[in-house]
Amino acid sequence: MYKIAVIGTGYVGLVTGTCLSDFGMEVTCVDNDKTKIDSLNNGIIPIYEPGLQLIVERNTYYKRLKFSTDIKAAVEEADVVFIAVGTPPAEDGSVDLSCVYSCAEEIGSFINGYKVVVMKSTVPVGTNRKIAELIRKKLEARGVSYDFDVVSNPEFLREGTAVYDFTHPDRVVIGSDSDRAKEIMKGVYRVLYLNETPFVETDPETAEMIKYASNAFLAMKVTFINEIANLCEKVGADVQDVARAIGRDGRIGPKFLHAGPGFGGSCFPKDTRALADMGKKHGARLMLVESTISANERQKLLMVEKIEKGLGGVEGKTLGILGLAFKQNTNDMREAASITILNRLAEKGAFLRAYDPAAMEEAAKVFSNLKGKILFCSDEYDAVKGADAVVILTEWNQFRNLDLNRIKSLLKEPCFFDLRNIYRRSFMEQKGFVYFGVGQ
Ligand code: NAD
Repeated sequence: MYKIAVIGTGYVGLVTGTCLSDFGMEVTCVDNDKTKIDSLNNGIIPIYEPGLQLIVERNTYYKRLKFSTDIKAAVEEADVVFIAVGTPPAEDGSVDLSCVYSCAEEIGSFINGYKVVVMKSTVPVGTNRKIAELIRKKLEARGVSYDFDVVSNPEFLREGTAVYDFTHPDRVVIGSDSDRAKEIMKGVYRVLYLNETPFVETDPETAEMIKYASNAFLAMKVTFINEIANLCEKVGADVQDVARAIGRDGRIGPKFLHAGPGFGGSCFPKDTRALADMGKKHGARLMLVESTISANERQKLLMVEKIEKGLGGVEGKTLGILGLAFKQNTNDMREAASITILNRLAEKGAFLRAYDPAAMEEAAKVFSNLKGKILFCSDEYDAVKGADAVVILTEWNQFRNLDLNRIKSLLKEPCFFDLRNIYRRSFMEQKGFVYFGVGQ
């Protein structure tokens, strides 16, 4: 049974550490954010992720899972050290690897025997080798020579369904030059291996590329259907029927074909930019990926135009905003489409009454620049009170079953912008709304 350290206790690190402890391993999750670790030690989960609390409680109870700020002790005790720190976007579209590098140096400072160092964070091609070099340099500086291997093991979980995704992956990618490390990784993921999850064993560069290619492809798929939706609006076609029909084609598949306000989140925007940046740096430009990035930016602005056009201008108008997080079942606001859209609407003179079931605290920080222009409301009905229109920005389940008569009676005008296509036009018009979807 391997002992595990996970460095970085965010969305990925916390889910990885918790699920591995649920597989029966002893896991220490480390973070340099003391407040986060204190919360976890007091039973408070710092992120909104359905199902996570219960598994954290179960495994801390059985003492298989602990939380600490002591990276030295965690590395010394572990056989396998996961790096799951953030890799945020840098100003120029490349990736800020400072957290990953400082993590590698710390690991190099504390290694006391053979370890497998596993890169879970999404990092540009070549980073795993750089990590190995940094660790080696630290060992040399210490005058010690311990064996270690670095493995690229990208993560594909989706926020909102992270626990399920981690425990039921479509595949596990293991990129390493070391057979010894690959065998240990199969041991770590033994539960999945026994369930016949496909394992892709490859070299580190290919593993790093798989993650970017996967996210870029999905981002392209979303952007494709958004562009088709825009054309549907012009020619009188219905994008939902188009998506349903093309999705039935096994070569295309039904997922990631929901037209909407543009993708956001902590992965697609930064990973598409990083891949495009890699392409430029290596003289192999990725025109499709570059177009995806700009088309996605345009999509958000088109949503602002849609609202302006529908209302005959937004100056002096009040909008009831339902949903702020980048998607349902998360409190993550990183690069949410709502950020661009609400800032533009506020700039144009709209007053915003906003509600999100999980992201209010995060949103208050993100929209701190909109003081006096945004009011955070207690629920969806409070948000639409006296508003000139409703705008659905996130597809939370609770917005799928709104009491539409109540919504209508609370609104000043029965105007409904459904930027997630939760409702059907014919139904909403029957209910007496002036309805605007995306591509309907
Ligand atoms: P996050 O920002 O939620 O968490 C990162 C954590 O690392 C933070 O708690 C931070 O305090 C901690 N940290 C930073 N430097 C540290 C250090 N030197 N020592 C200890 N802790 C440190 O990030 P995330 O969303 O979990 O993403 C982590 C990585 O996984 C990124 O590379 C991301 O691209 C990738 N990824 C994310 C998702 C997702 O859905 N969020 C999915 C797949 C892959």
